[in-house]
Amino acid sequence: MSVRVRFAPSPTGQVHIGNIRAAIFNWLFARHAGGSFLLRVEDTDRERSTPEAIRTLLSVMEWLGLDADEPPVYQSTRTARHLAVAEAMVASGAATRENRDGKGECIVCRMPAEGKVEFTDAVKGRIRKRAEDTQDFVIVRSDGSPVFHLANVVDDHDMGITHVIRGDDHVENTFKHLQIFKAMGVEPPVYAHLPMIVNHMGKPYSKRDGAAFVGDFQEQGYLPDALFNFLALLGWAPGDDREILSRQEMIDAFSLERCKSSAARFDLRKLLWMNGEYLRNLPRPVVEAEFRRRLQIAGLDAGTLPDATWNGVLDQMIPRTRVFGDVPGNCIYFFTENYPFDPKAVDKRLRPDGVVALLQEVAQAFEALPAFTVESSETALRALGEARGLGIGMLVHPVRVAVSGVGEGPGLFELLTLLGRERVCARLRRADKALQTTAN
Ligand code: GLU
Repeated sequence: MSVRVRFAPSPTGQVHIGNIRAAIFNWLFARHAGGSFLLRVEDTDRERSTPEAIRTLLSVMEWLGLDADEPPVYQSTRTARHLAVAEAMVASGAATRENRDGKGECIVCRMPAEGKVEFTDAVKGRIRKRAEDTQDFVIVRSDGSPVFHLANVVDDHDMGITHVIRGDDHVENTFKHLQIFKAMGVEPPVYAHLPMIVNHMGKPYSKRDGAAFVGDFQEQGYLPDALFNFLALLGWAPGDDREILSRQEMIDAFSLERCKSSAARFDLRKLLWMNGEYLRNLPRPVVEAEFRRRLQIAGLDAGTLPDATWNGVLDQMIPRTRVFGDVPGNCIYFFTENYPFDPKAVDKRLRPDGVVALLQEVAQAFEALPAFTVESSETALRALGEARGLGIGMLVHPVRVAVSGVGEGPGLFELLTLLGRERVCARLRRADKALQTTAN
């Protein structure tokens, strides 16, 4: 029997990372088994499933390289079939018509009255509950529309789905779904429920914790391969200590046995690190083009820098870039005298008594140099430190904050030569301005 799995999202306009993680696991499982990965659009909520929402969904899948093997199935086109199954269930006694709240008749699927209901989840193991803890449930509303449980099961059956891999918010539903399969007299698929994605507090990861939709990550300049790799490790591990895996390596290593049942923690720092690793594996021209594009969006034109300077900026900043969205903020001081000052860095490095005056001396020392290079600027700063009985750190940090506005960045002397003596000295001489702009 060949594997057939599906991703069955309900389009709402945004695609949550938890949903796309389920798509990734299904895709990896299908590709590993040489089976089929299908898309079923559960678009029965006509108000939310707009054409725009469906376009967003499809474009997110394309961006992440989640290619489906057959044309998508649109659940809303299958209502007649869902209702026919419900009628057959009524005819066999598996379901009954009830007038529940006086609003007209609905069709209700009956759960067993006694004993246990149970199933073996491919990730979570044996799951059971007492029949008296279950309740009969509506499968067709009084307005004649099929309920999610019915449509989901009938479509999984008709699409020949062998494994249902989805988030563990559906574990409870699975008891109902198995009951419908039983009523239909067919074998159910294997169910595999993926662990919840949680924040650092162990609570379900949501919009409040930061970017939660794939579109957010796209906008912030994350790379699809990095996001894919990161999400694949939320609830799965290859069984060795590899964290960066190519798509083929993930396909080769993927199995449901290696999926974890304990909650998966969303660690943004790990994603940033991973994205940086992927970014540095891109060909330099690709990275350069994206640097230019991101700068341009922020109104900064790489073309205004001499070629040698621009290349130096790339040399220094590419290794320090974790995500393209950070490029304008990290590079702004190369482009304008109007660069912002980080108030914390100013308070710590520029505000202490005597620093501003000391920076005038640094400017003077730099101006006196025959040539302004990485070596000469360092030698000059060290000499000044010795003359004043100050450790080099007492000079390096204030100089950095004065010329760049921030407390970290490239090696200081590389930074200084990229900026050039003129700009450096002018910035050092007006360091007192920074105290005013950030004063509270
Ligand atoms: N439309 C449901 C959801 O997005 C489908 C769940 C499933 O995969 O069966 O949660």
